[in-house]
Amino acid sequence: MQGNMMQMPLLISALLRHADAYHGDTEIVSRLAPGEIHRYTYRDAHRRTRRLANALGSLGVVQSSRVGTLACNTHRHFELYFAVSGVGAIINTVNPRLFPEQVEYIINHAEDEIMCFDPALLPLVEKIAARCPRVRAWVALTGAGEMPESELELLCYESLLGSHGDRFEWPELDENTASSLCYTSGTTGNPKGVLYSHRSTLLHTLAICLPDGLDLSAREVMMPVTPMFHVFSWGLPYAACLVGAKLVLPGAQLDGASLYDLFEKEQVTFTSGVPTVWLGLLEHLQSKKLKLSSLKRAVIGGSACPPAMFDQFADLGVEVIHAWGMTETSPFATSNHLKAKHLLLPEADRRRLRTKQGRPGFGVELKIVDGEGRELPRDGVAFGDLLVRGPWVTVAYFKADGDSVLRDGWFPTGDVATLDEDGFVQITDRSKDVIKSGGEWISSIDIENFAIAHPAVAEAAVIGVAHPKWAERPLLVVVRKSGQDVDREQLLGFLRDKIAKWWLPDDVVFVESLPHTATGKLSKLTLRQQLKDYRWPEVPASTALT
Ligand code: AMP
Repeated sequence: MQGNMMQMPLLISALLRHADAYHGDTEIVSRLAPGEIHRYTYRDAHRRTRRLANALGSLGVVQSSRVGTLACNTHRHFELYFAVSGVGAIINTVNPRLFPEQVEYIINHAEDEIMCFDPALLPLVEKIAARCPRVRAWVALTGAGEMPESELELLCYESLLGSHGDRFEWPELDENTASSLCYTSGTTGNPKGVLYSHRSTLLHTLAICLPDGLDLSAREVMMPVTPMFHVFSWGLPYAACLVGAKLVLPGAQLDGASLYDLFEKEQVTFTSGVPTVWLGLLEHLQSKKLKLSSLKRAVIGGSACPPAMFDQFADLGVEVIHAWGMTETSPFATSNHLKAKHLLLPEADRRRLRTKQGRPGFGVELKIVDGEGRELPRDGVAFGDLLVRGPWVTVAYFKADGDSVLRDGWFPTGDVATLDEDGFVQITDRSKDVIKSGGEWISSIDIENFAIAHPAVAEAAVIGVAHPKWAERPLLVVVRKSGQDVDREQLLGFLRDKIAKWWLPDDVVFVESLPHTATGKLSKLTLRQQLKDYRWPEVPASTALT
């Protein structure tokens, strides 16, 4: 027997329709250039998105067509999110920070027919356009008066919108229709496409708004600093519509001073970003002795948030929501909210729990397994390969001929982690970054977290370097804070009482900067290449351990 309830597919267009109908006067604010702020409401956004839907039709976009974007966080990118998916086509956000060859690869692999790009990215577009034969139109996301000069034949976004009306009925699609496509920027091989559906996006959006997800509501002013070109800014533009929060889109200026300016002027309460983006903000606040007057919460993920960063934010009155996920998981899978029983714990124990990557909410299941695939205990100690499953986790990469990437129905994340009985996960490493010393595993993230707590350390990375006796030993690579001094002995002395004796790095190398990937993670692959000629000093500290 079937239930008697309405059949309403879970569609992305419903999010914007809801925001228009019940939060029509709530603002979306975009910074288009330094000092150039654009303001409108969800009602205006919906009206323009309907115009855009008509414009896309005039460009020959039909169901399943791919429309690509090369753009930062602005209201125009927001409109593309909803118009492209809304008409049944697929939005493919491309990360402009990737190498031009990778950008070109993604556009060709996705078979993007239309590419919409920020004018600032014209040099990149000009470099690759000739090698992207399927792209029928390159649309500059700007007004007619600001169209850049180019040898390429460009279309103007605002002119396109201006030449179409706003009468458009969003089609009632099957909720399993593909809506959006984002490529993982893996460190090796070609990028791989993750193809989301309307249903997976809506379920993910509902889940992240829950109190033990990101706890979002119509009372927030949300400023996603996570780029809209990478995993849909962690789904936050969709979530803002679902709850009807004011949305602030920071454009391309993500330095500390620019972020601070927007936080204060728009009275932002909630933000999101990878740890590297916050280094700039925290340094700016510290050097200028500034306070944050409205910001209450920052969701941090993409890489481990060092406990020292938790404390710095706490001192500013900002709660860090540490979250873990990946492109393949839409991306949210866990966040670090405590349970009632944890509130009775001493402060130090609560902090220890909250600095982990958190626990899954309903819809995400996790387990850790050993090398033979046997499940390991959830005791917070054993660590193994982290597997995940759920309705917003991918089963296969785009155009992989149906080849499932699953292992017995679970997605292998490539992360190594511990899990405790409450489901709190702690990521110890990417599996390829784990340091194997004398048959035991050392967590590079743990050592980095302690090193970064030293007041003179701006950034730290730990990599395994081949060692004649122990197979591999940890090498600590450090960027000093400007104007600060610290040497090898002081740093090793600082770490000595914080980590197991045999985890202590054998040496410290000081560098001007560390390499990062296009999504702001430490690129250990590049770092290992940069340090390939490194040799241990005559008597490594570890020989003293035996
Ligand atoms: P991406 O697909 O680019 O979003 O990268 C996903 C990967 O980033 C994960 O598999 C983890 O290795 C890493 N990651 C994401 N969030 C965290 C976190 N909170 N702590 C540690 N690593 C993280």
